[in-house]
Formats: sequence, C-alpha cells, structure tokens
Amino acid sequence: MIETLESLRVATAKALGHLDEPHLEADLLIGHVLDLTRSQMWARHDQSVTCEHQQAVWNLIEKRRRGVPAAYLIGKKGFWDNDFYVTPETLIPRPETELLVETILARSDNEARSVVDLGTGSGAIAISLAKARPQWHVIATDCMPGAIEIAQQNANQVGNIDWLIADWLTAFRQGCFDIIVANPPYIDETDPHLDDLVYEPRSALVSGNGGFADLNEIMTSAKSALKPNGYLIVEHGFNQQTAVENGLRKAGLYTQALKDLSGQPRAVIATLGA
Ligand code: GLN
Repeated sequence: MIETLESLRVATAKALGHLDEPHLEADLLIGHVLDLTRSQMWARHDQSVTCEHQQAVWNLIEKRRRGVPAAYLIGKKGFWDNDFYVTPETLIPRPETELLVETILARSDNEARSVVDLGTGSGAIAISLAKARPQWHVIATDCMPGAIEIAQQNANQVGNIDWLIADWLTAFRQGCFDIIVANPPYIDETDPHLDDLVYEPRSALVSGNGGFADLNEIMTSAKSALKPNGYLIVEHGFNQQTAVENGLRKAGLYTQALKDLSGQPRAVIATLGA
C-alpha cells in the first residue's frame, strides 16, 4: 500500500497512542528515519514514503512499544539549547534538570568561574553552561568511561571543558570551585517507578541508603571543595528536599530550596554564608 507521509504519521501516532505525546513521538521516529524536521514533514505531508522507510519506521515503533526510550532509538535528546547524543551508558537528560542550568546562568555574572559538573552523563549540564559562559572553566566528571566518551562527542567544539573519570569530589583539592553542580542518582532501589526506566543505566538512577547514598557523599564533601563565595546546586527526588536541606545544614551550609517547572521540589542551593 502506498503511504504518504501524512498517513504514516497518523498510523504511527495511533500505534503509539498509549504514550503521553503520541504525535510528538511519531514525528521524532519518522523524522529520524527520513532525516526531516517537523516543519519539513508538514510541508511534504502528501509525499509518498518508500517501503524501506516505512519498514524502518515500523521497526522503531515496535521497539518503542516495548518501552525503549525514543531518545535511545533516535540516539539523541534535546536539552536546553542543544541536542545531545545519548547511549544506554548515559542517562537521558530530563527537562526538570534544566532547572539547574537556568538557575546557575541566572545567578551568574561575567567573571571567570571555576565550575564542576559531577556525574555529567551525556554532558548536558556541563556543555550547556560552558557554551553559555565561554569565560568559565568547567570540569565534568563521571565514573563511567563510556559516558565521558559520549559527553566529549557532544562537546564537539567547546574548548572550556576538561573531562575526568572520577568519583564525586574525591579527586579535588580544597576550596577550588565557585560552583559545584550535580544530578546524582537518587532513586531508592525499591521504587516502583524504576520499572519504567529499565533501559537506562541503573548506576545513574539508583542510589543505596533509600536513594541518599550519593547525595550524602556530595553533601558532606561539598563545603571543603567550595571557594568562600561559591555554592553547590544539587538535584534530588520530589520527596527528598527536606532531607537534603537538613543534610546540607548539618554539613555547615546555608540552603535555598528550588522547585522545577512542574512545581515539584527538585533542587537545593547551598552556600557557605547566609
Ligand atoms: N529524575 C529522574 C527520574 O526520576 C532521575 C534522575 C536521577 O536519578 N538523577 O526519572
């Protein structure tokens, strides 16, 4: 049967009808196979689609219906100002994590700053910051070499980032950062939400001690790694904010709580002074 681009879009969205945004997801998959943007697809809606392309789209639909994230099927995910390559070795950047980038840029001046992004994954936070503030020096760490490789590919022409395979703040001397940013794993290993996240690296999602093991390590070591006017900004789960604020205060820091765009408690800023 001859399919036009439009009839393929309709059929794809129908096959993905169980998802939150079937039309957007359909366009992502079809756009990937045909190498077209959404507006190009609109413009060419009555064009016919070859059998090979139809088959390639249906292969992706089948995988998507099995729960493979669209970002892994098309190999990239949009975050802040850019698309980032992702692989099963990197967490897929989440829209709520843009809160960290937005907050840091809103608080920043034009001075040179020393910044570290702990557990960078695909590099989304580090690269977004480094591009927006070319005068900053950003260090991005991850404990997974595969993640650092992808992040370096994502960085492409960005010159003001250094990459390091490291475990949280253990590699750094005292008092060297103006800004420490982290989106660590914070999901408790018994959280049923994990059933929907089986394709992403567990090490980027799950943390021991009820989801707090990595948060605790960052919270207790941040103070000595910060410069006097520096701050830590850390993402956490929607129900972890009180515990994170308490942990940071116990570590001798002053805190400010932040909500994400959907109104969920999502991050805390911690400083040495009030
Ligand atoms: N926010 C992610 C989720 O709930 C988890 C990311 C993380 O553990 N840092 O899907």
